[in-house]
Amino acid sequence: MRIASNSLAHLIGFYHSELNSIYELSEIDAILNLALEHYLGFSKADVVSKKKENLNQSDLLKLYFCCKELKKNVPIQYILKEAWFYNLKFYVNQHVLIPRPETEELVGLILKENPTAGSFLDIGTGSGCIPIAIKNNLKNSNVSGCDISPSALEVAKKNVELNKTEVHFIEVDILNEQESSKKIETTFDVIISNPPYIKADEKNSLSEHVINNEPHLALFVNEQDDIIFYKKIIDLCQHKLNAKGKLYFELNPLTAQNVLDYANASKQFVKVELIKDMSGKMRFLRAEKN
Ligand code: GLN
Repeated sequence: MRIASNSLAHLIGFYHSELNSIYELSEIDAILNLALEHYLGFSKADVVSKKKENLNQSDLLKLYFCCKELKKNVPIQYILKEAWFYNLKFYVNQHVLIPRPETEELVGLILKENPTAGSFLDIGTGSGCIPIAIKNNLKNSNVSGCDISPSALEVAKKNVELNKTEVHFIEVDILNEQESSKKIETTFDVIISNPPYIKADEKNSLSEHVINNEPHLALFVNEQDDIIFYKKIIDLCQHKLNAKGKLYFELNPLTAQNVLDYANASKQFVKVELIKDMSGKMRFLRAEKN
């Protein structure tokens, strides 16, 4: 692997030729924009206008090693240890999922529909992207997040500091009803969750960089019942969601209908609806409590 010269143009050419077997050209450019912003502070406009400029040896070396990691299928967000979500920068490592654009869509919907809600709880918070984005936009609300994984909660707490905001975190196994009803002490106006929702037999449909790098605890449902997390959270709403409160889920389109049926059968909601995401998939559920 050799780069023809120190110029930015040659570095870009190098990334294209090294990575074209694993990424589309447009993805490589998007990755390069992130890497150049991270290492050199370059804006997208800089990337265009500084093509002929030479990079110094140490910057070049960083970008070269970054490319080597990318070739091993490591997602750029884990290499840079950062990901953007709802215009905020988050620290990420391999204990948490990389925040997804679908989840940004969900946060947008929640903010639009609940501008005056007083309290929010995000179940299975991972990096803390959901509660932190909410609190950042609704400064007067009380926002909490919970997760079973102590290492994920460490990441989430770090992100609260990075974004200079305030979120309360609880370590709890949501599948254990007794534990969750005790540890989640208060009730909420809005409960949100993007729980693990990929069935073991869907593993093959995931790309290698997801399977090999992202935490399986956050991706897969290992139980017999593949909507167990949704059911437990719907059950929890009986006691922890305030009257007129709302429940929001991010869903697997393959099991969306089953989750909807379970929510309806629980008889605590006046209205339960499935909502499509930007790409037209049944991706979200909204339920309004009696
Ligand atoms: N709530 C986090 C997110 O949406 C983590 C989700 C998860 O780990 N299943 O990114």
